[in-house]
Amino acid sequence: MKKLNMLIMGPAGSGKGTMSELIEKKYNIAHISTGDMFRNELKNNTELGQKASSYMKAGLLVPDEVTIAMVVKRLNQDDCNDGYLLDGFPRSLVQADVYDAKVIGTPKDLGLVINLTVDEELLISRIENRRICRSCGAVYNVVTLPSKVEGVCDICGGELYQRADDNRESLKQRMASYYEETAPVLEHYRRLGLIRDVNASQSIEEVWADVQKAIDEFLNNEEVL
Ligand SMILES: [Zn+2]
Repeated sequence: MKKLNMLIMGPAGSGKGTMSELIEKKYNIAHISTGDMFRNELKNNTELGQKASSYMKAGLLVPDEVTIAMVVKRLNQDDCNDGYLLDGFPRSLVQADVYDAKVIGTPKDLGLVINLTVDEELLISRIENRRICRSCGAVYNVVTLPSKVEGVCDICGGELYQRADDNRESLKQRMASYYEETAPVLEHYRRLGLIRDVNASQSIEEVWADVQKAIDEFLNNEEVL
């Protein structure tokens, strides 16, 4: 049986978090989000955590070697033996190259990359319609998921507001920097034939069906490369 060693990529708003949770549950693999990994290393005050925090405190980006060392350490934990799902890494071609060199030829070798694609205009309208509760953080959408009373949270009665950066201009900027950063990584994995594109502009159920199809096809394909 093939191991499900995979990455998931997609811009903010593509539903990457939701898909990651569903994949983790159904396929029973370790979900490694780089955000969680950093928080853990910091919380446990490990050597890598201390290194990372010294850069973060100085307002600097954590260097690739520290991030990659954390990922490799995490991949070597027991819960990754039957497969893993990386989320938020690699973020650049440099990270991808070093990571590849560490895993190729090992049981942690990468097999599949799910790339969630989105329609920018749809994403903009989703975000412009988003409202968040000031008290409990519940998320609404004035078109697709409105609260019962306009401006009031159904759960706690708190006030709903729109985040200042939930607008067209900031979204376009966020998307542009996401594509600039990840385009070389996607190109790299596309050349290696690992990418499966999934249209994430569909409903959650449809996206999930396509994601499962891509994973199941990967798992059932016995061809050895
Ligand atoms: Zn609330």
